[in-house]
Amino acid sequence: MALRIGQGYDVHRLVPGRRLVLGGEEIPFERGLDGHSDADVLLHALTDAVLGAAGLGDLGALFPPGDPEWKDASSVRLLEIVMTRAAAAGFRVVNCDLTLIAEAPKLAPHRERIRARLARVLGVEPGAVGLKATTHEGLGALGRGEGMAALAVVLLARED
Ligand code: MG
Repeated sequence: MALRIGQGYDVHRLVPGRRLVLGGEEIPFERGLDGHSDADVLLHALTDAVLGAAGLGDLGALFPPGDPEWKDASSVRLLEIVMTRAAAAGFRVVNCDLTLIAEAPKLAPHRERIRARLARVLGVEPGAVGLKATTHEGLGALGRGEGMAALAVVLLARED
């Protein structure tokens, strides 16, 4: 069995007049993340981690930001496409672990819903999806709440 680890990082600016979507779930908040797709920072970090582990490139190359096909696209759809490609290359997910860096809102009330959603897309049990949040302690742009960042690691396995 071959094991492959991948990591991903993403950051998006928070702006008024946008929905906040994290891990494929809409979260009530007065601002949302800005971007060409739904700007789901958690899913972008996770999808890049899967791509990295599978050696399949990166999100920006597969889904170019200027491409009208991905305008306001659900990032769940992007991850589903990447999972199909990873599966075609023989990979399945063992587990993943995500960290959201955000001053607000609190993630805890939405954590289990997001874990269940991600588990379905990844084809694993919710217990194999780690999801944590931390603040940036008021430091810098993230600390002023101007945006959110996310870190992801994922472990893939392939029968050799
Ligand atoms: Mg992004």
